[in-house]
Amino acid sequence: MSKLSSLQEKDLKYIFHPCSQMKDYEKLPPMIIKKAEGLYLEDEFGNRYMDCVGSWWVNLFGHCNPRINRVIKEQIDKLEHVLFVNFSHEAAIELAEELIKVVPKGIEKFLFADNGSSSIEMALKLSFQYHQQSGNPKRTKFISLSNAYHGETVGALGVGDVDIFTKTYRPLIKEGLKADKPECFRCPYGKNYSTCEAQCFERMEKLIEENRGEIAAVIIEPVVQGAAGMKIYSPIYIKKLREITKKYGIHLIADEIAVGFGRTGKMFAMEHAGVSPDIMCMSKGLTAGYYPMAIIGITQEIYDSFYADYLEGKSFLHSHTYSGNPIGCRIALEVLRIFREENILEMIEEKGEYLRKKAQEVFEGHPYIGEYRQIGMIGALEFVKDRDNKELFPSEERAGYEIYKIALKKGALLRPLGNVIYFMPPYIITKEEIDKMLEICKESIDEYIDRRNKDK
Ligand SMILES: *Cc1c(COP(=O)(O)O)cnc(C)c1O
Repeated sequence: MSKLSSLQEKDLKYIFHPCSQMKDYEKLPPMIIKKAEGLYLEDEFGNRYMDCVGSWWVNLFGHCNPRINRVIKEQIDKLEHVLFVNFSHEAAIELAEELIKVVPKGIEKFLFADNGSSSIEMALKLSFQYHQQSGNPKRTKFISLSNAYHGETVGALGVGDVDIFTKTYRPLIKEGLKADKPECFRCPYGKNYSTCEAQCFERMEKLIEENRGEIAAVIIEPVVQGAAGMKIYSPIYIKKLREITKKYGIHLIADEIAVGFGRTGKMFAMEHAGVSPDIMCMSKGLTAGYYPMAIIGITQEIYDSFYADYLEGKSFLHSHTYSGNPIGCRIALEVLRIFREENILEMIEEKGEYLRKKAQEVFEGHPYIGEYRQIGMIGALEFVKDRDNKELFPSEERAGYEIYKIALKKGALLRPLGNVIYFMPPYIITKEEIDKMLEICKESIDEYIDRRNKDK
């Protein structure tokens, strides 16, 4: 065990960290971050790290962004919180007024929650209740994609399918139907990005046809399945899905929690397909990495199904204590203003192109990289043992975790998902920093491979 600082000692004495095996901290203790600025985190020993994963996909404009810091200070001196039932406030109203201008057409009303998983729970309940009170009580099932990730609360796990999060809890979960996901890196139809017409949609189509009278909604992560390993798939798939769900009166729920707010190069990933969902969940980038908040956008039609005299029992009786918190709303409003005033979408396009070009240069022909893929400001490397047969490293080797540890020593926070190493940096990253990030990533992979081959 390395020598611990007193903060690290106390941390381990009291805290159970998320998504970790606490015993792993014996070898690599928690890093105590004292402060952060822009792309960089600084630990208690003064070491700096590039935050290449945007602190779990949330940070858009850098840490301690001066514009956002200022509005928080102003808001906190005015109104810190008020209950959101029967009460409202300027920050929420102004936010809604701005948000409506950028969400896909057809989204007309907003509900508020305080984290992504809760917004998924709400989306599922809204769709379920809509059908119950619209004369379709048999519509009780949900369809999602294999390997989907929609959060880790019990309801969200039912539409999720990432085994490490789900396995233990299966008996507890109300399992939805799963359609085989698009698998572009290993396309079973032998298509590539230019010949793909989302032929694999037939599997989803079949599942919908077989259950069509009983389905409330289909939920997807549009264009990128994030936790599955940044799997990018064709917007044609989404177009087809929109068509068939419309035809059968099934809701389409877009989980834009990870991909919304510019990540894929469009404000929302659904725009790649040019279609609108019935329900849309937003979180993560919504508050740029500052504050736990989520918003659910719905159509007027869904809203109307809940609108009735109280005694008809159609109210949506779901609340989270901190729904609509004014500080979160004020931050989200500033996020939208920054997008508009600082031409963020153009910046993403330019930097995204640079990242793509550079990443291709750095990783092209690398014997252990099966594929580099990218959309907007999400880049991902599929790390393979053998490029020709696309064989993966055995998961017991924890290659991703080992590479993570090497990269940290070199000053970059990369946090692989299994055998996928990805980049999801704040949009303010500079071209020089992109170069540096790629260089550290490549060196870390090479060092890992060297060490591994020596050990064999
Ligand atoms: C992060 C995420 C969630 C869950 O959000 P939390 O705030 O972590 O509960 C749901 N769906 C997707 C696609 C996500 O990336």
